Amino acid sequence: MSLIVMKFGGSSVGDAERMKRVANRVVERQREGNQCVVVVSAMGDTTDDLIDLSKQICSVTPPAREMDMLLTTGEQVSVALLSMAIQSLGQPALSFTGWQAGMYTEAVHGKARITDIQPERILKAVNQGNVVIVAGFQGMTTEGEITTLGRGGSDTTAVALAAAIQADVCEIFTDVDGIYSTDPRVVKCARKLPEITYDEMLELANLGAAVLHPRAVEYAKNYNVPLVVRSSFNHNAGTNVKEEAAMEQGIVVRGIASDKNVARISILGIEEKPGQLAKVFTALAKAQIDVDIIVQSGIMNGQADFSFTVSLTDKDRALEVIQGIRSEVGFREVSSQENLVKVSIVGAGMVSTPGVAAKMFEVISDLGLSINMVSTSEIKTSCVIDNSRLNEVIQALHTAYGLDTDQTVYVGGPQDRR
Ligand code: ASP
Ligand code: MG
Repeated sequence: MSLIVMKFGGSSVGDAERMKRVANRVVERQREGNQCVVVVSAMGDTTDDLIDLSKQICSVTPPAREMDMLLTTGEQVSVALLSMAIQSLGQPALSFTGWQAGMYTEAVHGKARITDIQPERILKAVNQGNVVIVAGFQGMTTEGEITTLGRGGSDTTAVALAAAIQADVCEIFTDVDGIYSTDPRVVKCARKLPEITYDEMLELANLGAAVLHPRAVEYAKNYNVPLVVRSSFNHNAGTNVKEEAAMEQGIVVRGIASDKNVARISILGIEEKPGQLAKVFTALAKAQIDVDIIVQSGIMNGQADFSFTVSLTDKDRALEVIQGIRSEVGFREVSSQENLVKVSIVGAGMVSTPGVAAKMFEVISDLGLSINMVSTSEIKTSCVIDNSRLNEVIQALHTAYGLDTDQTVYVGGPQDRR
């Protein structure tokens, strides 16, 4: 008998029919002799619709506390309906809100981190033979305030809960068959990965692969929770996410991701003296702006140039911040560039295989494109390039690293991006 956490995303419970399908799936699993704890997201686009509704009421940013109060209702609808669906199949079930399930978070609205889980109540219900259904994405502070975990946060609820109750596995059900080498909508012969390491998955999740929430992967890694990503619409084997994963022979790159949410900012003719970079990046950090790739070019006549990337949404604010410290820092000019994309290759084997990055540069230049910026870590290489031919670049890299399969994958239905 195994204790299993099963998480179903918004599109998997998008309407009553789908909800019933999920109920069947859970009951099937329970009747195989397992104990199931289910985490669900809000149905379909509910969260987006609730956000739209709040915008119709408020002309300015709505109060964060009330926003959490509003958004957590989405998941509560799901748990109640799923519990009803499971009970109508003759299987005892009990639904719980995040706070009833003992999910405690820090006192931050909109993007709280889980601080503690007190699972006694749900464990008792499980041991009495119930399927337990917990609302994803929500928690409570020690003061009794309702919080949410950030968009896509139900994955984190599931993994954290799995860690807290020491589940044998946490299964993330979604509308794709697993983790692919790259987006199968872009590369028709993308391959489904039988397994992937936590570190690789974390890179891919952070680099724009939307299948799993990065914080959930972080949690899984820290608590060594075995994760499986699989389809809620079929019984195909999914992708196992774990500490170590076998590499197919001759393959070093596990996956390719891309992120269009990048802008480059260049500061030209900055006076070269100690502490200059610190001033710029401290000012940006104070404004809560995350900086990604930083490149400094050579020094000439006591002046240096450097560039860095920020997310597109932070670009204008970053420019304001830089202008604001102009007199303090001293530079000739600041400029920015959009229409860029960051393409990344990820693979745990890269660190011990020479020439992996070189091949990436070659593939991109063979397409006649120049590379604006590069960054590397032990298991990834990212290049910032013009975004106009992104799909071609991804396809060419996919082929060059031997990732193409001869099967065309069919991915139907709406993407479960949350
Ligand atoms: N319903 C929330 C969202 O749409 C949380 C989730 O789906 O994971 O972001
Ligand atoms: Mg999701």
